Amino acid sequence: MPFLKPDFLVIFDLHCHSTASDGVLTPAALVARAHEQGVDVLSLTDHDDMRGQADAARAALALGLRYVPGVEISVTWSGHTLHIVGLGVDPEHPQLLAGLSANRAGRAERASQMGEALARVGIPGALEGAYAYAVNKDLIGRTHFARYLVEEGYVKDVKTVFKKYLVKGKPGYVHHQWASLTEAVAWVHAAGGQAVLAHPGRCNFGREKMRALLAEFRDLGGEAIEVVTGSHTPEQVPIYAELADEFGLYASSGSDFHAPGEDGRELGRLMSLPPICRPLWATW
Ligand code: AMP
Ligand code: MN
Ligand code: MN
Ligand code: MN
Repeated sequence: MPFLKPDFLVIFDLHCHSTASDGVLTPAALVARAHEQGVDVLSLTDHDDMRGQADAARAALALGLRYVPGVEISVTWSGHTLHIVGLGVDPEHPQLLAGLSANRAGRAERASQMGEALARVGIPGALEGAYAYAVNKDLIGRTHFARYLVEEGYVKDVKTVFKKYLVKGKPGYVHHQWASLTEAVAWVHAAGGQAVLAHPGRCNFGREKMRALLAEFRDLGGEAIEVVTGSHTPEQVPIYAELADEFGLYASSGSDFHAPGEDGRELGRLMSLPPICRPLWATW
C-alpha cells in the first residue's frame, strides 16, 4: 500500500542498502520501493562499494525521483567501528574507488575467520551459508552471516544473531581494521561529496567520547551527523539534534533500510528533523 502523504511533505531518505552490499533488493527494486513509499529524494549508500549507483540513478530518473549518489564507509576510530556516509560523491572518483577497494579487501579473510569461529561454537557451514546470501561477494559481511543463522534456526531474527554472536565479545566477532576517519572524510571530499557521521547513537559512547569524536570529525571538515535514522530511538533524536547544533554540524536523515520486514525499518518512514536542526540539504 503506497503511503498517502500530504503534498507539502518532502521526504528525504539519505541512507539505505541494496544487493551491492547487505541489502536484499537490487538497486532498481530499492528505488521502486522508495518511490512507492513516497520518498522524494533518495541516496543509496551501500557499504564500501558503489557498484549499485548507476542502476539506482537510472531507475530514479525513470520514476522522477531525485537521486543523490552515496556510500557508507567503514571506519576504525579509537578501536571502535564507525560508519561515515558520503553524499553527493562522484561514483567514479579514482581516489574514493581506491579507498573503498582497500576497505573491501579484508572482508574475505575476516569472513573465513568468522566461519571458523562459529564452527568452534557448534555452527558449521556458516561461511558458505553467508556467501549464498551475498550477491556482491566482495562485500561479504556480518549481515549475510546473520541471515544464514536465522535460516538455519539457530536464532530467531537478525537482531538477536548480532547480540548473541556478532558483536564485540561474542564468539563470531572478528576484529577488523577499516579506514581511518581522516581517510574516509578525505575520500568523500576528494569525490566532491559531503561527509555524514552515520547513526551516532549506535556508537554506545559516553558523552565525553562522543564529544571527542564530534570535535575531531568537525575539525576534519565533516559536514553533518544523522540525527534521524532507523537506528535511533525517539529519545536519541533530540540528543543528537542538540549535539549537531553545538558542534556547528548539519543534520541528515535516513532509514538505513536493508530488507523488507527485517528490522521494522521502512524506506521513507522517518520522523521530521527537530526544528533546531539545519538540514544538510539546505546546502544543496
Ligand atoms: P559489517 O560491515 O560486515 O561489519 O556489517 C555491518 C552491518 O551489520 C551494519 O551495516 C548493519 O547492517 C549490521 N548490523 C550491525 N550491528 C547490528 C545489530 N546490532 N543489529 C542488526 N544489524 C546490525
Ligand atoms: Mn548494513
Ligand atoms: Mn551503518
Ligand atoms: Mn547503513
